[in-house]
Amino acid sequence: METIWRLGSSGVPVCAPLQTNTEADVVVIGAGITGLTTALPLVEAGQRVVVLEARTVGGGVTGGSTGNLYTTLASGQAALCRKWGDEVSADVVWARSEAIDDIEALIRRFSIDCGFRRQSAYRLLIGDGQHSDRSLNDERDALCRAGLDIESAESPGLPFDSWGIRIPDQAQFNPLHYVQGLASALIGEGGVIHEQSPVRRVDAEEGVVETDTASIAARRIVFATHTPKGVSLLQAGMVVSREYAVAARLRNGEYPEGIFWLLDPFHSLRSYRHGDASYLVVVGEKHKTGEHVGDHYQLLREYLSNHFDVESFSHQWSAQQYNSPDGLPYIGRMHGHDNLYMATGFAADGLVWGALAGRLIADEILGHANPWQARFGSRRITPGKSALQYAKENVTVTKHLARDYLGTESIDSFEEIARGQARVATKNGEKLAIHRTEAGELKVLSAVCPHLKCIVHWNAPESTWDCPCHGSRFDTDGEVIEGPAYRPLSRAGGTG
Ligand SMILES: Cc1cc2nc3c(=O)[nH]c(=O)nc-3n(C[C@H](O)[C@H](O)[C@H](O)COP(=O)(O)OP(=O)(O)OC[C@H]3O[C@@H](n4cnc5c(N)ncnc54)[C@H](O)[C@@H]3O)c2cc1C
Repeated sequence: METIWRLGSSGVPVCAPLQTNTEADVVVIGAGITGLTTALPLVEAGQRVVVLEARTVGGGVTGGSTGNLYTTLASGQAALCRKWGDEVSADVVWARSEAIDDIEALIRRFSIDCGFRRQSAYRLLIGDGQHSDRSLNDERDALCRAGLDIESAESPGLPFDSWGIRIPDQAQFNPLHYVQGLASALIGEGGVIHEQSPVRRVDAEEGVVETDTASIAARRIVFATHTPKGVSLLQAGMVVSREYAVAARLRNGEYPEGIFWLLDPFHSLRSYRHGDASYLVVVGEKHKTGEHVGDHYQLLREYLSNHFDVESFSHQWSAQQYNSPDGLPYIGRMHGHDNLYMATGFAADGLVWGALAGRLIADEILGHANPWQARFGSRRITPGKSALQYAKENVTVTKHLARDYLGTESIDSFEEIARGQARVATKNGEKLAIHRTEAGELKVLSAVCPHLKCIVHWNAPESTWDCPCHGSRFDTDGEVIEGPAYRPLSRAGGTG
């Protein structure tokens, strides 16, 4: 099943794949919220901009998000305060508030029909609120100190007891319709987008971007790919996670209005209306990419059924997030190359970070001062705030490398793999990712991730091969779905 945001989606004008070599002032890789928000002001400033998108506009995490726009962070303002202090915490709220205003202004200017509306956000504990909760009190204090007007909330439109905090004047929209609208606006202003054009190589020295069919020479190149492609030091400290979403129709028609973060365990809820039909969306069951266990969709269906009068389930999808080692996103010029730009480390808050990143990178390219460049710059070094996560993630990578290289079972014959099954196994000394489709077709790939040589793991609910080291993901034909890998999993030798 695909994301709910495709309901009523009109797509964008035809964006044919790149077929001929060309030149540009700026190549933006990736047509999510970051790439398109970067490209638009550049085109308006007279730059020749080409956007290259591996799949379709908004087909990455933007189109798999929850569509909530908020000034705080889903993981909590108190955690940010503890790491960075009150001044940075207030800057984050301020910067994100400006980014939401920018989104709203673009929607008005280009008449983008994406259901944007101001909404309250709620951070709630389930229960009757008779006892005080230290984490909620800390969060309340941190939000106040960051300059947000907040109120207490009790069971706000929810059919069960809950209590906590209300943050007014946040927003919601359909994220896919928004970026499709941005893409149309970009094309209208003279920008060029090529869909189905995965970038396979970037030569920073020469300023060349290559796809399978053609290349572009460009003065500047922007990795708006959610995580930079290829090898970057920053990847060593990122926690890469997957999170799942399920949408349902309710029997009683009582859909709650707002952004709801229900704590312990964390679940995000929102309603969405399309035409005459309403839906309730729940997002949660986060786990590290490549460390998949169990059926997360089923757990979300049970969560909704336990709390709401569910009539039927309509959609399910999943998406990936990158949590930066020091808790803030990395946006702007990359280390070592003045012509390369990137934006990553958005955690679950990247619709707003992506909008901010677009403005920030465009300003940097155009030489316009932007007060947030210093705060969120990708060249910052913050060992005191990031060393722990770097250390933990490097242990994780080492653990996976050792366990997966040494511990993979051997297989004598592919007949051992039944229909619908998949397995990583060693055959003739080669690590293989083996999958037999329900129809019986055998697909055998190398299990070695082309990014940094870790071994991929099978993700059964999504039928993908996921790398537990840095989050590259591949479909059953080996093609890259997302993550830092440029190239597909190679076809294995000796298949038969
Ligand atoms: C379950 C979930 C829910 C979320 N909900 C919210 C929310 O409610 N609010 C919020 O603020 N944030 C949310 N986020 C985070 C947010 O969705 C993302 O951080 C944000 O959409 C990232 O935007 P992006 O443009 O940087 O990346 P993407 O939208 O992923 O865009 C990157 C694009 O680059 C393309 N690409 C990648 N490699 C190549 C290549 N080699 N060549 C060409 N193109 C390439 C991809 O196909 C993709 O389209 C959520 C995240 C998750 C996981």
